[in-house]
Amino acid sequence: MPSTKRARSTRQRANASTRSLVITIDGPAGVGKSTAAKTLARRLGLMYLDTGATYRTLAYAARRRQLHPVADADRIAELARQLPIELRVRDDGSLQVRLSGEDISAAIRTEEVTEAAALVSQHPPVRRALVKRQRELADRHGVVVEGRDTGSVVFPKASHKFFLDADPEVRAHRRQRELARLYGARSPIAQIREQLHFRDGLDRTRRVGPLVKPRGAIAINTTHRTINQVVQMMLRHIRRNRPER
Ligand code: C5P
Repeated sequence: MPSTKRARSTRQRANASTRSLVITIDGPAGVGKSTAAKTLARRLGLMYLDTGATYRTLAYAARRRQLHPVADADRIAELARQLPIELRVRDDGSLQVRLSGEDISAAIRTEEVTEAAALVSQHPPVRRALVKRQRELADRHGVVVEGRDTGSVVFPKASHKFFLDADPEVRAHRRQRELARLYGARSPIAQIREQLHFRDGLDRTRRVGPLVKPRGAIAINTTHRTINQVVQMMLRHIRRNRPER
């Protein structure tokens, strides 16, 4: 091989081996995205970024200011542009969310905030502001990011993209268990089904950043799979397709 060509290929290999991994995981609620993303991030030593938490935090901050999630869209977008949010994974693997230093990790998971987050995330100016924020929050040395539009809009050039889905009934039961873990009480399954259906409708049909399987994403149906099996599938795919190999 001529020396210039050899030098170029060595350089290309070096660039590829140091290139940071950006792994996106998208899908509707209740498919196991968060647990899979957190586990994958830990296994790979990467940062974990939950974009849903940014929409929830914004919805929470807007409620505090008594802003209406639809009627006050412009003021909420303004709030989004300067949202003082901090995200951190605790030692036990759970996510800590702070707003101006205050721990709001549990407060953003209530039914009210969940519904408000689904509504505020509809506005294009809100999405623009939060996508910018999400890119700033991501570690430049590598990140596992989860949400609805992370592979299509937030990081369209991600090194690996996954799209998770599952049977709606299984998703509803998972969500019910998650809420019971958080708040102790079991919400009626019919109510959870209805809320998932409502959020799915909004997420899949909005004009900007809808929930879609991003181009090039690997689809994984989690209905009959454990989180461990899902993470193993992801790891196999990542190892097989590592940029440096
Ligand atoms: O993922 P999670 O259920 O916490 O997200 C809360 C809400 O935020 C979702 O219902 C969705 O409407 C919105 N969201 C979004 N885009 C993302 C992540 C979440 O619109 N990337």
